[in-house]
Amino acid sequence: MMRSGYLRHSLLDDLAIEHGFGTRDSVVPGELVRPKQVHGAEVVRSTAQHAGDQREADAIATRVTDRSVGVLTADCVPILVAAHDGRGVAAIHAGWRGLAAGVVEAGVAALRELCEPEARLVAAIGPRIGVCCYEVDRPVLDAMTQRFTNAEIERACVETRPGHARVDLAALCQLALQHSGIAPADHAALDEACTACDAERFHSYRRDAEAAGRLAHFITSR
Ligand SMILES: [Zn+2]
Repeated sequence: MMRSGYLRHSLLDDLAIEHGFGTRDSVVPGELVRPKQVHGAEVVRSTAQHAGDQREADAIATRVTDRSVGVLTADCVPILVAAHDGRGVAAIHAGWRGLAAGVVEAGVAALRELCEPEARLVAAIGPRIGVCCYEVDRPVLDAMTQRFTNAEIERACVETRPGHARVDLAALCQLALQHSGIAPADHAALDEACTACDAERFHSYRRDAEAAGRLAHFITSR
């Protein structure tokens, strides 16, 4: 079923995998199963017996036919992952805390466990705060060293003022996907959509603070 108000990614479209990255206009699927997000690295496995909704986690994986799983974001990075045959999908919520804690690697590993060991995975990165708008301070940059080399961090950052830099969270997510064994041709970010710049399409915590709504993203297992 096509749903209105959602952005789609060609990597997943090419495999006919039902999915969507939310905008202000999207209606959240009523049957969507999503965890209670806490900026950590836990993964929920959504099974036939236990849907896993409202468990504390920042990634959710399933292999149940027709099950839609998802995450909410307002600047953080949504990542939708699928096995090539569409039987097995995962949704990941990655902000700087989750990235540092390894949520991307944990989400991909959980999906691999659900699928055939040799399953080829594809991953699409949705709308998120861009390097244009995401300035962070030293503690955030230091946290990234838990997961990335200094050279990798430097490539994903633009220095601004002493102790501060603008960070490309999507670039770090792509590195984490690579670290997880997903081939470069099998992961890509959706254009340059920045949630903070584009107030017409997206909610943004940086821009709207407590008043910010949330974008819902989903992917459905075949
Ligand atoms: Zn921006």
